[in-house]
Amino acid sequence: MTEIIDGNAVASTLREELTGCVETLAAADERPTLATVLMSEDPASETYVSMKQDDCEEVGIGARDVTLDADAPAEDLFEVVDDLNNDDDVNAILVQSPVPDHVDYREVLERIDPMKDVDAFHPENVGRLVAGYPRYKPCTPHGIQRLLAAADVDTEGKDAVVVGRSRIVGKPMVNLFIQDAPGGNATTTVCHSRTDDLAAKTREADIVVAAAGVPELVDGSMLEEGAVVIDVGINRVEAEDGDGTTLVGDVDFESAKEKASAITPVPGGVGPMTRAMLLYNTVKATSLQTDTAVELP
Ligand code: NAD
Repeated sequence: MTEIIDGNAVASTLREELTGCVETLAAADERPTLATVLMSEDPASETYVSMKQDDCEEVGIGARDVTLDADAPAEDLFEVVDDLNNDDDVNAILVQSPVPDHVDYREVLERIDPMKDVDAFHPENVGRLVAGYPRYKPCTPHGIQRLLAAADVDTEGKDAVVVGRSRIVGKPMVNLFIQDAPGGNATTTVCHSRTDDLAAKTREADIVVAAAGVPELVDGSMLEEGAVVIDVGINRVEAEDGDGTTLVGDVDFESAKEKASAITPVPGGVGPMTRAMLLYNTVKATSLQTDTAVELP
């Protein structure tokens, strides 16, 4: 029987646990606050930001919301980041990507105070992760580690294949899998757009993480019997019945389910965990910035 790993359920439990941490911090007059910065008219980005704010409200985290016109000068965004860095009432900063073409996103990331960088994209936080002593773990791969743990998948000594080498998913996933730490110690192969014979690589894997942004790239024929399959992809495609669009992952769920011992669905797998780990990092940031210790779940 294939286990369908329920990201909504794991994320919901984590949010409940984080609510207790937020209460502890609030009782010490240190309620965590996350500032989101939106500089885009893209409806998807607007939705992501509003979902993040709703999540904050659910667990009692304060939400600060800054919106800039998409055609405002880059300097305006830099000033907002500087102000948030200097604001003691703000513990965590997230600049929603993508930013407009005239803004250098790298400059934005390097400007955010690394202690408030809850996406963990600042070079200091990336460096710490690679060096093996992460401060914050990037939300999506950290959420995947939590999903694997919740499904009782021990990564130690396993062969893991990560499909995709992006800054936000593939690369940090590889770094977490190879750490000498719980959720790590996997023998890890990273595949990407120039990989020759992807199926030969995935067929060797005990754990496959698909994060390529290619609809249904990984199907059952590419999997070893009993593999654990984590589908990160979120792809909007035309519905099969021709009626509008639908969401699919980077895995062909139906054929993969026949081979897998455990698999995440899309939606309802990795997505909710990514959101929950942002709350986790915000609580952790607050705890690190104050004298109030909390026991993180
Ligand atoms: P990206 O476009 O930045 O990177 C995609 C990576 O896949 C690249 O490294 C590329 O080399 C590799 N790739 C592309 N085609 C390939 C192929 N045919 N074979 C092997 N590798 C290939 O994408 P990203 O930001 O890492 O996101 C990947 C997917 O995950 C997207 O669908 C995105 O929407 C989704 N995503 C989901 C979450 C979530 O919380 N569920 C979070 C982030 C991204």
